Amino acid sequence: MEIDRGEAGYLTIDRNALQDNYNFLRKTSPNSDCAAVVKADAYGLGLIPVAQALAEAGCQTFFVATLREGRQLRQHNQEAAIYVLDGLFPGVEQDFSELNLRPVLGHTSEILDWSDYCSSKGMQLPAAIHIDTGMNRLGLGEPELNSLLEIQKERRDLLTNFKLSLVMSHLSCADEPAHNKNQQQLKDFVRLKSLLPETPASLANSAGILLGPSYHFDLVRPGIALYGSWPLSDGPTVASGRQQLKCVVRLCGRIIQVREVRSGQSIGYGATYRLKRRSRVATVSVGYADGYLRKLGGADNRKGAEVYIGGQSVPVIGRISMDLITIDVTDIPEETACRGEFVELIGPHVNIDHLGERAETISYEILTRLGRRIERHYI
Ligand SMILES: *Cc1c(COP(=O)(O)O)cnc(C)c1O
Repeated sequence: MEIDRGEAGYLTIDRNALQDNYNFLRKTSPNSDCAAVVKADAYGLGLIPVAQALAEAGCQTFFVATLREGRQLRQHNQEAAIYVLDGLFPGVEQDFSELNLRPVLGHTSEILDWSDYCSSKGMQLPAAIHIDTGMNRLGLGEPELNSLLEIQKERRDLLTNFKLSLVMSHLSCADEPAHNKNQQQLKDFVRLKSLLPETPASLANSAGILLGPSYHFDLVRPGIALYGSWPLSDGPTVASGRQQLKCVVRLCGRIIQVREVRSGQSIGYGATYRLKRRSRVATVSVGYADGYLRKLGGADNRKGAEVYIGGQSVPVIGRISMDLITIDVTDIPEETACRGEFVELIGPHVNIDHLGERAETISYEILTRLGRRIERHYI
C-alpha cells in the first residue's frame, strides 16, 4: 500500500477480512440467505468498495437506509436486490421503480401507496413489509396488521398488486442474549407474519444470528459483524467471540513531534491531565474531526484510550483536540516514537469494541463517525 508522504494518517479496510466475516456469518446461518447491511456508507467504510467486496463473496441482497444510498449502490451493482429500510416518502414510487429498489414498507400508508402505484403501472414490483414486534419505531404492529386485513376485505388486490418479497422485523435487545425480549419478539414475529401471505422472512441482525437457528428464518441481515465488531455486549461468549471475527478496519495517525515535558506540567485544553513524571509526549495528527471521540481523552481522574506503537500500548493523555491527540511515549524507544512515525488508533491491537466501551458508546458510532479527512485504502 502506498501512503503519500504528506498524509496525516490513513484508514485501511481489509477486503479479505470483510469477506471472511461474511463467510463466518453465512456458515453460522447455513440454511438462510445472508444479506449485508451497508447503510450509512457501509458504517463509514465506503459503500461502493465494501458492497463490491461483499458481492464478490457471494452477497446478492443489500440493505441501505435511504433512497439516496440505494441510488448510489444501484449505479454500481445492477443485479443485487437492494432494500431501502426507510421505506417510502410521499411521491417517490417512481424513483424506486426506475432504480429497481425495494422499499421496506413500515406503515399502512406506504403499503397503500406502493400497491396503488404498482396497480396503476400494471407492474408487480417487489417490496418488504416491516412488522413491529416491540421496537415501536418502524413497522406495523398487531392492530395495524389487523386493520390492513380489514382494508384488504374491501380491496382484494391490496397485497397482490405488488410482489411481497420479504416480511421482516427487527430485534431490540439481541446484543443481550439472555434478555427475555428476544424470545418475545421471536414469538410475536412468527404469529404476526402468519397473518400475511406466505413470504420469505427475516428477523436477525448480526447479534440475532448468534442467538441461534430459530432466529434465522430465510434471510439474515448482518451489519456490524461484517465490519469486525462482535455484536454481543453481554453473556459468556463475549471474550472468546471477539476472536472469531477478523479485524477489518485499521486507523493510523502520525506523530508530528515528540516533546520532553516536565513532571507536574499539564497537557492540552483545560489542563485536565497533569504529568506524574518527566515524560516524552508525542503529538499525533488525528482528532475529533476525524471521529476520534472526545470521550477517548485521558484526564487525572479518568483513564483515556490506548494507542499502539512499537509493539506496546500507550495512553492517550489530555483532551482530544479537533486535529490532534497527545500520547505518552516515555516508555517507547526514541527511534520508534519519532517524528513521521505511524501510530495505530484502531486496528488489530486496538479492539474497536474496547474502544467503544472506553468512549462510553458502541462500535457502530466509532465507525460511522470516522471523518472524511482520512484517506481510505482498500487492501
Ligand atoms: C442496521 C440494521 C441491521 C444491521 O444491524 P447490525 O446490528 O449492524 O447487524 C439489520 N436490520 C435493520 C432493520 C437495521 O436497521
